[in-house]
Amino acid sequence: MILLESAADLRVHLDSARRGGASIGFVPTMGAFHEGHRSLMRAARAAHDLVVVSLFVNPLQFGPGEDLDRYPRDPTGDLEVVREEGVDVLFTPGVAEMYPGHPEPPLTTVHVASLSEGLCGTGRPGHFDGVATVVAKLFALVGPCTAYFGRKDAQQLAVVRRLVADLGLPVEVVGCPLVRESDGLALSSRNRNLIPEQRRAATVLYRALRAGADLVMGGERDAGRLRRVVANVATNEELARLEYAEVVGTGDLSPMETLSGEVLVAVAARVGGVRLIDNMTVTVKADGTASVDLGVMTEGEVVCAAR
Ligand code: AMP
Repeated sequence: MILLESAADLRVHLDSARRGGASIGFVPTMGAFHEGHRSLMRAARAAHDLVVVSLFVNPLQFGPGEDLDRYPRDPTGDLEVVREEGVDVLFTPGVAEMYPGHPEPPLTTVHVASLSEGLCGTGRPGHFDGVATVVAKLFALVGPCTAYFGRKDAQQLAVVRRLVADLGLPVEVVGCPLVRESDGLALSSRNRNLIPEQRRAATVLYRALRAGADLVMGGERDAGRLRRVVANVATNEELARLEYAEVVGTGDLSPMETLSGEVLVAVAARVGGVRLIDNMTVTVKADGTASVDLGVMTEGEVVCAAR
């Protein structure tokens, strides 16, 4: 495992690997690794000669007053994880390395219109510009064949897919299953900032999605009723403040009336000072049958239902 902080060193290292014919799998992250990150590293490891992980807490995707300063950091634990997962290169650039004009914001940014606006974009204006900009830059620096993203961040995945399609970037984007704790809480670096009481309350998002999944499996196809049930359960927890519960198409993220095709049911809530997101994918086939994908548990159990 080699640790690199400079873009120039990264380029030299990867150029020579590419010249030798190596295929590069890339996992962009903000660190404080957990099983969700590990699952992406494993997917990359299984398919590529060289696995590159970037660890950069990107200030551009945090708004004023958000948790940039409180974002969990664990450099020692992270090194152990990348070693255990057989990662070849850990790229940990500083802010000035990624944004040469720093502390001035970069003059060139990437905006993926429409997909960046709803869901998390409503409460976090500019967030997805920060994400799209850093991902475009990291793709340029790493030059991967394939990049791995978690479906936990479904809107981010949609934004990145569209960015790659619109700019014709030569990268295949792979979406990997959402990984959960055994009580259903979606793994997130931010979970480290929950005190025990809040940690218990945080499962409300999973409970809300499960209630929605049960409804769909019972035959419900009305998106409004599904949304209301999910929102009701999610508001039924004193320590959690629901930000949104939405039912949208997975590709264009636009609201739906009747469930059909691939549907994203997405929720976000604040528990204490910690903002949490979660989602499930409902697939309704032309014959009217539905399946629900809630991801996988850390033990590897698949959480889905089909009828
Ligand atoms: P982050 O470090 O939070 O920016 O996440 C880096 C990558 O890990 C992103 O592609 C996330 O979608 C993915 N990820 C984070 N949490 C999970 C999870 N619970 N399951 C699957 N992927 C995840």
